[in-house]
Amino acid sequence: MIILKSKREIGLMKEAGRLVAQAHQIVRKMIEPGVSTEEIDVAVERFFEEQQAEPLFKGYPGETPFPAVTCMSLNEQVVHGIPNDEPLKAGDILSVDTGCRVNGWCGDAAWTYPVGDVDAPTQKLLRAGEEALNVAIEAVGKQKKWSVVAKQMMKVAKKNQFSLVEKFVGHGIGREMHEPPQVPNYTKEALKNEDFELQPGLVLAIEPMLNAGVADIRVLNDNWTVVTKDGKRSVHFEHTVALTEDGPIRLTEGVGR
Ligand code: MG
Repeated sequence: MIILKSKREIGLMKEAGRLVAQAHQIVRKMIEPGVSTEEIDVAVERFFEEQQAEPLFKGYPGETPFPAVTCMSLNEQVVHGIPNDEPLKAGDILSVDTGCRVNGWCGDAAWTYPVGDVDAPTQKLLRAGEEALNVAIEAVGKQKKWSVVAKQMMKVAKKNQFSLVEKFVGHGIGREMHEPPQVPNYTKEALKNEDFELQPGLVLAIEPMLNAGVADIRVLNDNWTVVTKDGKRSVHFEHTVALTEDGPIRLTEGVGR
């Protein structure tokens, strides 16, 4: 069941969103050739500790519990990459996803960062990923049904000849990081039954994942890291967004800036 949030509750969720955005600012400042994703993860973990925020990714149940407070997905990795001690290289792209809970409310956001200078096709992929997220956030304030929003994201992917990952979806968010509804980045006939109404009080983690090549993915032997099947690059942009009478609010505003 979808749990709508009151104005007061959305106000409380702003604090979690603000901390997630600050964590991303730490990440953005640290990213450069030579730095490892483990070092960045440790900095985010320390920040959440200082803020007395509960990290939501560490220990997340799976075949093995997720071992870090951030997901660090490099180049052809789509989501759920595990931080390690390999130094980043100029020309890489790094998708960083993290979330925390504070005062009982959750925030969740992801961004794909360039490491040093990246080539033109990668720049195009980064721009398209960010555009897909922006188009969706603008559309949730205007449309009545989520499927129409998903269709607009698909248009962004299509015009750039990229593909949207279908295997992973966004989600409702509140006291728990993952709440109903599921928020897919695509529409299909079969999905019509799972469509939902866009209304004030809905808080969604909207998170398109765009692949340079095919939409197909596979999971590595670590049981977490998701990579593109064709080895081409992937980007991931996510905000926690609250729908209000006055339009959508990005609770994680500041991520990637
Ligand atoms: Mg999410």
